[in-house]
Amino acid sequence: MSRFFTLSLVFLIFFSCTDSQVTTDNSTKKLAPPNILFIMSDDHAEQAISAYGSKMIETPHIDRIAKEGILFKNSFVTNSICAPSRAVLLTGKYSHLNGLRDNRDQFDGSQQTFPKLLQKAGYQTSVIGKWHLKTHPTGFDYWNILINQGHYYNPEMVEMGKDGGTADTSITTGYTSDVITDIALNTLENRDKAKPFCMLYHHKAPHRNWMPHPRDFGKYKNIPMPDNFWDDYKTRSTAASTQDMHVKDMFLSLDMKLMPEDYEGIPVGTGGGGGKFDPTNNWVKNNYGRMTDEQKEAWNAYYDPIRKKFRDNPLSGKELVEWKYQRYMEDYLGSVKAVDDNIGRVLKYLDDNGLAENTLVIYTSDQGFYLGEHGWYDKRFMYEESMGMPLVARFPKAIPAGQVNEDLVMNLDFAPTFLDYAGVTIPAGFQGTSLRPILAGKTPDNWRKSVYYEYFEYPHGWHSVKQHYGVRTDRYKLIHFYNDIDAWELYDLEADPKEMNNLINNEQYQTTVEELKLELKRLRKELKVS
Ligand code: CA
Repeated sequence: MSRFFTLSLVFLIFFSCTDSQVTTDNSTKKLAPPNILFIMSDDHAEQAISAYGSKMIETPHIDRIAKEGILFKNSFVTNSICAPSRAVLLTGKYSHLNGLRDNRDQFDGSQQTFPKLLQKAGYQTSVIGKWHLKTHPTGFDYWNILINQGHYYNPEMVEMGKDGGTADTSITTGYTSDVITDIALNTLENRDKAKPFCMLYHHKAPHRNWMPHPRDFGKYKNIPMPDNFWDDYKTRSTAASTQDMHVKDMFLSLDMKLMPEDYEGIPVGTGGGGGKFDPTNNWVKNNYGRMTDEQKEAWNAYYDPIRKKFRDNPLSGKELVEWKYQRYMEDYLGSVKAVDDNIGRVLKYLDDNGLAENTLVIYTSDQGFYLGEHGWYDKRFMYEESMGMPLVARFPKAIPAGQVNEDLVMNLDFAPTFLDYAGVTIPAGFQGTSLRPILAGKTPDNWRKSVYYEYFEYPHGWHSVKQHYGVRTDRYKLIHFYNDIDAWELYDLEADPKEMNNLINNEQYQTTVEELKLELKRLRKELKVS
């Protein structure tokens, strides 16, 4: 027996013994550091995913991740807005500690993040697509990112190593979800195969202003309005009635794809989205104007008849609002479709290259979104549709298939989860908790029983949603709009899952209110808010 073979045999026996002696429990078992593919879209609501029961759209590829792994029903963000959510992902810390409270702030890339720690532990790290943090990415071996929000057609991207310069336009000509995926697949193909990879693959879609690929034009028609669309906010604080995110106020140009001549003289509502955009300086110039002739031709062939019909039969009042809802949903769902199709491409790549077994795949969105619930689009509020984020995960080696989980989990937990799988010590300052035991099917006895939330972007920024913080348990939600209105709201999610009935003054719930206020105080102290 050669010396090499003897040594190999000794190692083999040693590692087999170690492995079997550690435990057979996947929640703690030593695993080789898995690859991590973190897929995040922008503003994708659970209501638009068939695995979550959506009847509006089929999302077979996202559903596949859930079916072959786990779906979380109670997954939440700490602060329902784009850039802050991304900072929470990277740092594992709440907005008040990572310094990015709202979209006005810029990310301090010198702080500790999980990609930096994974990189140090031997991972090849990359981020492709939406970044939106104003400063250049740190902690990545490769990045190729959209500028700010990015565009749906022929997006401008900046690539690492090009001195902050534009990425190759021969690659970035096309539809954003396809382009981002092409770059992600190229990056995987050309990776250092001796290292595990951690890729953040971030879609722009379905962030407004929703512009589907021509292959998805006209696929989603006659979508039923939610039964609380015409909510009168009767029991709520004034925060719900003074927002500026009602479908009735959506921009006719930016969101509805009309030109100013299409709606000349048409009453368009009272909010900030009345359709008074300068046609020389927004979607016409920046979105339609950037298309190739071929793209414009396909666009015009579909949208010109819609514009003509609107011009020839001007709508007003309720009819106009219903028309806006249908236009909104058609374009929103059309934009989701390309995300799901492209996830299918990436899952196929993993299958075809023998990577599916040893890759943790996560699909989520930077937050949820309103698809007409309470009459709204957008996010921000602590109500379920926007505080919630879709979350499904697959990792055949350590996540039993077919699980549906109801534990309270958060975007704060991603960073510690990745470090846990990689065998890297989770820094003391990280505020989330590794999801690894839950993913393995064993929720720890001491798992969190409540979630803290805080939204900051007011009075500056869009949509006039007042600042608030609050606590959510498995059954209740207590919200405090703490600035100019100083108002509280309480919801019993078991009796009122759509949060229509604010119980803050209901006598029967006063003990619950007191308990939740104490829990809120405890959380704010523990999380170093106050
Ligand atoms: Ca977002």
